[in-house]
Amino acid sequence: MHLKNSKIIIIKIGSSLLVDADRKIRKKWLTSFAKDIKKLKSKNKKIVIVSSGAIALGCKKMNYNKTNLRLDKSQAIASIGQIELMNLFSQTFLKFKLNISQILLTLEDTEERRRSINAKRTFENLFELDYIPIVNENDTIATSEIKYGDNDRLAARVAQIIGADTLIILSDVDGLYDKSKKKNIIRTVSKIDSNIYALVEDKKNSYGSGGIMTKLDAAKICMNSGSQMLIANGQKLNPLKKIFENNNYTRFVPKISTLAARKKWIVSSISSSAKIYIDDGATKAINNGKSLLPAGIIRVLGNFKKGENILIVDKNNNELARGLSSFSSIEIQKIKGLQSSQIENILGYSSKSEIIHKDDMVKL
Ligand code: GLU
Repeated sequence: MHLKNSKIIIIKIGSSLLVDADRKIRKKWLTSFAKDIKKLKSKNKKIVIVSSGAIALGCKKMNYNKTNLRLDKSQAIASIGQIELMNLFSQTFLKFKLNISQILLTLEDTEERRRSINAKRTFENLFELDYIPIVNENDTIATSEIKYGDNDRLAARVAQIIGADTLIILSDVDGLYDKSKKKNIIRTVSKIDSNIYALVEDKKNSYGSGGIMTKLDAAKICMNSGSQMLIANGQKLNPLKKIFENNNYTRFVPKISTLAARKKWIVSSISSSAKIYIDDGATKAINNGKSLLPAGIIRVLGNFKKGENILIVDKNNNELARGLSSFSSIEIQKIKGLQSSQIENILGYSSKSEIIHKDDMVKL
């Protein structure tokens, strides 16, 4: 059991746990889950639940099939289903005298620093009021380019923002399978590298949006921000009790992180196809903890505004660092490769000389 020292625990439940293949709501399961939560609460744990199911329940209600829904239609369906989802939680949790609240987040809410701090405060206030926040993505508003689309990474980002000790991802697989040994799950993962990617197969179910890949992305976020993450099969009744009785899960071990909260937030960003390619000299400078100057930039990928979170890669596309850009992509296009002293001349206004300052950067 790895929960003893966890004060804040996030549990993510996938749609397939709430709605079965015949589209029946798994009420008995949810009741048994609520019972497990009651037990954790009695041990003074602070709990957040990230629940999918808005689209699954909306589809059920409207008798639609998710697979052929257009984006705008699925947003309307999510709006119908979200209230069904919360009703289900509130009826079930009330029986155990557990108070719940709803938090709907968009990608911008977690990726913009001010908004993420705001969200953190709301979670903390809800803990103080003894409410269990139930989180989902705000599917009714998010458009496909600026959306999580899966609750695995959303749950991990929430874990980082609120400083959770543990994220438990309950799904319909037992954990991370080693495909070379069909039935064995990998018990402990301390590093996500090409060996891990080589072991896994990407499987998706009919309602959940995430597969094993989004779970690995989530694990990376958790590990970097000092939270442990568990993937386990949550299908049985009393899922949490069963998992810990049988010790059946994959555990991703958190890195011991001495980073300040702001730097943890920077390094765990999920955003951006935005990338800056840098030359060998700049790579060396970054590795020595220096700021990124325009002179070392070879190429800029993606459109971004000043202040956005950017991935810095070397010329072979190896990920080096993440940081907040002091310039927009349009500005960097104009000044890349130049000396800092030339910036003002080219842009027509004076500005900082670092593209990404070392205080706004975290090495990967
Ligand atoms: N937010 C989506 C929903 O509630 C689910 C996303 C996911 O499956 O991870 O239906």
